Amino acid sequence: MKMNLLVGLVVLSGFGLGFTAGAADAGKAEPAAPGVKWKAGDMARPRPPVVTPPDWGSNDKPAVPPSDAIVLFDGTSLAKWKTDSKKPEAAADDAAKWKVENGYFEVVPHGGGIRTREKFTGDYQWHIEWATPAEVKGSSQGRGNSGVFIGGLPEVQVLDSYDNDTYPDGQASALYNRHPPYVNASRKPGQWQTYDIIVERAKVDAEGKVTQKARVTVLHNGLVSHHARELDTRAQDGDLALQDHGNPVRFRNIWLRKLNNDESANTPPPAPKK
Ligand code: MG
Repeated sequence: MKMNLLVGLVVLSGFGLGFTAGAADAGKAEPAAPGVKWKAGDMARPRPPVVTPPDWGSNDKPAVPPSDAIVLFDGTSLAKWKTDSKKPEAAADDAAKWKVENGYFEVVPHGGGIRTREKFTGDYQWHIEWATPAEVKGSSQGRGNSGVFIGGLPEVQVLDSYDNDTYPDGQASALYNRHPPYVNASRKPGQWQTYDIIVERAKVDAEGKVTQKARVTVLHNGLVSHHARELDTRAQDGDLALQDHGNPVRFRNIWLRKLNNDESANTPPPAPKK
């Protein structure tokens, strides 16, 4: 009897779920969320784009970017980059001359930093992979130091922070001289590490008033090291620059993808099946 009651409850709740889904398909009266024109469960709502996710690769196997990525380094060429060097020869030829080999590129110490030729307006996920030298030399800030600069943001520090103490707001994944990372997620020297840096630009109204400060979120080797840190910058675009701090740090698989929070750009729903 008890079992029958249980089965009955399960069947009833199943009917309940089915009824809810059916009502949702038909479109509820209220919007799905404040400010959203679509009703909850609305089948007429445009579909998000289909994206093939990345293959994150490994220490031996190169990673593959997601299908909607703008690739800034594909393993073979620094054509999308220029030098930051202020030396006279750089004025005549601004090509980035860091060493490219075996699917990665490497800082040529004291040759100057490099930056992308293109600037990117709006909100993006930036993906960068890096490895500090397998042979450990130096200590603190002198060990595997480089850095990631995205226009208008503080440096996201690149450093060999595996068993290498330094000031916390200067260790790997720190927002340099501002915030230490939540955790030290560093891999060993010579191993490939990832940064995913999500940049949301300041939102400014027609009167020029900032309605939402710029924000940055950082994941180091997949772990959140900063979440939605607010920044005072009003910059609306940016390039990506990598620091020459005198250490032969390597980089590979660099890409970005635009964050799409605009449903009007989504795909219309498929035609109903007959
Ligand atoms: Mg640095």
